[in-house]
Amino acid sequence: MLLVESLNEASINAQAFSGVGESTKSVANINFNRFFHWYYFSNIGLFAPSKFLGYKSTNLENYLGEGTGTDTQRVLSKWFVKVDPKSEKHKELKEKLEAFAANIGKSISTKTFQGTGGIYLLADEYSGSDYPDELSKQGIKEGALRQVTVNAYERSPRARAECIEHYGAKCWVCEFEFEGVYGKELGAGFIHVHHIVDLAQIGEEYEVNPIKDLRPVCPNCHSMLHKRKPAMHPDELRKIINTNT
Ligand SMILES: [Zn+2]
Ligand SMILES: [Zn+2]
Repeated sequence: MLLVESLNEASINAQAFSGVGESTKSVANINFNRFFHWYYFSNIGLFAPSKFLGYKSTNLENYLGEGTGTDTQRVLSKWFVKVDPKSEKHKELKEKLEAFAANIGKSISTKTFQGTGGIYLLADEYSGSDYPDELSKQGIKEGALRQVTVNAYERSPRARAECIEHYGAKCWVCEFEFEGVYGKELGAGFIHVHHIVDLAQIGEEYEVNPIKDLRPVCPNCHSMLHKRKPAMHPDELRKIINTNT
């Protein structure tokens, strides 16, 4: 098994892992409670364990729990730092991680919080982006809670897949395609998904329509969209690009 060579490859694995709750027959789901090295992607708001992240092209179908955690931890240490168990940040991430597990009816191995395991966070130089997940830091105001729900659509594996199937893995704003620049192995299928529905339009019964409500966008355009709160419409950003280039 080959180790990942870029943070992008690890993020794609993290996105694959996000479906673990629904994939009840997968090894990752069955062995969920045994993972104790957890990595948090603050830019996409996802947790995933070392052995799932560290090998190339891991997904819920092909993950069989093989390999050693030592190798994957070594490669991931290029981009992640271990969070000091005595810090405030650790407390915050522990709560977040336990909530993620509880949400899918699982629990986190206690080894994670003792000397043996750990919680790891993207090193500062990789976490500068202000993707929507960061808004959850606003605290427990209704707006913030709703924002988190909205962002869940951007991360929902099924909604993402339908959006990308319809529009292709090409930025809807600037037309950037990762595969064309980074090649097939790294870039194929890589894209963010942005949720364009205004918070004010979302009621209790709202169900996302992946074609009407979501658009594939590159991480650069995605950051620009979220520089405004609420986020700018992709059409508006497209106009801005057209006037400037
Ligand atoms: Zn773009
Ligand atoms: Zn977005």
